[in-house]
Amino acid sequence: MNLHELIDRLHKEHTLTKEEFITLIKERNEESASYLASLAREEAVNIYGNGVFPRGLVEFTNYCKNNCYYCGIQGSNPNANRYRLSKEEILSACENGYQLGYRSFVLQGGEDPHYTDEVMVPIVAEIRKRYPDCAITLSLGERSKESYQKLYDAGADRYLLRHEAADPELYQKLHPESLSLENRIQCLWNLKEIGYAVGTGFMVGAPYQTVENLADDLLFIKELDPQMVGIGPFVPHHDTRFKEFPSGSVELTTYLVSILRLMNPHLLLPSTTALGTIDPRGREKGILAGANVVMPNLSPVAVRKDYSLYDNKICTGEEAAECAGCLGRRLASIDYQLVFSRGDYIE
Ligand code: SAH
Repeated sequence: MNLHELIDRLHKEHTLTKEEFITLIKERNEESASYLASLAREEAVNIYGNGVFPRGLVEFTNYCKNNCYYCGIQGSNPNANRYRLSKEEILSACENGYQLGYRSFVLQGGEDPHYTDEVMVPIVAEIRKRYPDCAITLSLGERSKESYQKLYDAGADRYLLRHEAADPELYQKLHPESLSLENRIQCLWNLKEIGYAVGTGFMVGAPYQTVENLADDLLFIKELDPQMVGIGPFVPHHDTRFKEFPSGSVELTTYLVSILRLMNPHLLLPSTTALGTIDPRGREKGILAGANVVMPNLSPVAVRKDYSLYDNKICTGEEAAECAGCLGRRLASIDYQLVFSRGDYIE
């Protein structure tokens, strides 16, 4: 079967076998990429129009108890300049965002033991109380089901937790023994069961990742059936053991964005900051491949450079308002526009 036929079948049936995904990725070429992207864009526009939803990202702590080998803020990195935002600072970042028009906030951080439920629940509850019209997304890593439930009851709607690698062997090459794929996946099912809109995802071009691994990632996503999928290229960080590994490519990342869009046309798919980091027009390319979400930074400028997951991360020097303006202009250049709403998943 040629690539064109495989893509048509993916478009119609929303999945392929593992072998077929492998062929679709391994034998990709410019023509298959542009055909895939045109179908993906069409699907996204059919459901969401040519609007792109901005999520205001508040990176509220870079303390982390984990040591994911690829990540610049892993707990054992002595060169990370650690910070934590107080409740007031988080609320003021949200207020700034709200004034700029954001109706969707993402609180993301390392797994920082300081933010117990006793600390986190009141923060979420206060955001919920002040902004009843906004979506609240959390990205705090692995917690107990009880904790996820408390945060949900306090008003959180969505949770981002990338599975990182669906193949247990690859997962273990990227993480220390204290972390397991099994627990991460259990967390995702727990979040779904509680009622969160769930986002998962992985890095493209991570060290040791093969095309077979990517096919497993796609099949895992098919099974989980999340509302959001975040993928971005792996980008090395100079303080990690993976510092000599090359970045993932824009080309493969955008190809996978298009595949994900055809697997579930309703997905909320961000065009990630990592994509914009390895290519000045990376985020535009992600949108043109079928993505429909961007995540501009709302963190206070003073701490932004310290949320350094990988090297050369963009948007670390600008005020929130400049970020929104810059993205708006970038999208206008490709005939898309920012839509300031909650941007809920459309069934
Ligand atoms: N502590 C939270 C948030 C992690 S940071 C959690 O565990 O979910 C958000 C995402 O950044 C991670 O899921 C990872 O996929 C990505 N990331 C981390 N280091 C990266 C790197 N070097 N290159 C690209 N993406 C990276």
